[in-house]
Amino acid sequence: MYHGGHPKGPTIGKDVQIAKFAVGRYETNLLPPPPGGYTKTFGTGLREALSVVIQPNEGIPPSGNIGQATWDVLWPLLDDYHRWQYRVWTPPVIPKPNPVPDLGPLYYGGASVLSHSLTHNTDGSPELTRYYPAFDDGWIAGRTVLAVENLIVAAASGANPGEAFYGAGESKLAYWYGHLTSAPSVGTEFEKGQPVSRIYNQGEKSHVHLGIDARALANLTLLYGATGHGPDYTYGSPTVGVQLREALSL
Ligand SMILES: [Zn+2]
Repeated sequence: MYHGGHPKGPTIGKDVQIAKFAVGRYETNLLPPPPGGYTKTFGTGLREALSVVIQPNEGIPPSGNIGQATWDVLWPLLDDYHRWQYRVWTPPVIPKPNPVPDLGPLYYGGASVLSHSLTHNTDGSPELTRYYPAFDDGWIAGRTVLAVENLIVAAASGANPGEAFYGAGESKLAYWYGHLTSAPSVGTEFEKGQPVSRIYNQGEKSHVHLGIDARALANLTLLYGATGHGPDYTYGSPTVGVQLREALSL
C-alpha cells in the first residue's frame, strides 16, 4: 500500500482502512479515527504515523508505505473482526482502457491512419456504404500501398475502377482497400508496413481508398465529413485516432 507521494499511490481500498485501524491501536493518539471513521485513502496522517513513529521504532526503513515488514507489525494489532474483513477482501480489478491500435500509413512517408479525418463513404453494398467511411490517399499512380496494421485478406471485392479487397486487422478494425492495380488473394497475411498492392492509374485522380469499419473494435461507426455523416468529400469530423481514443477510453 502506498502513500500519495509514491508514484503508485495513494492506494485506496478496504486494506488501507484496515491498516489505519491497526495503526490507531499501535500507540494512543497515533492515528485517532476521524468522526466519520477511517477512510479508504492512504493519506498523510497514515504516512507520518508510519514513517515517523512505527517504522523507526520497529527498525523498518521509514518509507511511509506499507510493505510486508510493516504489515507484519500491524497484523497482530488487528482484532478478529478486522482480520476477517481483510481476509475476505479482494482488491478491486481496475479495468484498463483499451489501447488505440497503432496504425501506420497507406504509403511510405504518409501520415498514420490515426491522423486522418474521414471524408466520404464507400460506395458499394449497403454494408460498405453504411459502415466503411473512408479517406483517399496516395495520389500517385503505381505508388506502393501498405498494410496499415497486421491484417489478413478476408474477402475479394472490386472497385470501379481497379481492384479492391476486405482486410481484417489484428486490432479488429476491418478495412476496404480500393482502386488497386491488383488484389491479394483471400487468406494472404500482411504485417504492418508490408506492401499489399499499388495505386491504380486514374491519371491525376489516382488514389487509394481506405474504408474503415470500427464496429468490432469499438462498437462504433466512424464519423465522416462536415456533419459526421457527410456530405461526401467534406472535412470536419475528428480524426480516426481521436474517435477511437474516445470510444475506447472508459
Ligand atoms: Zn474514396
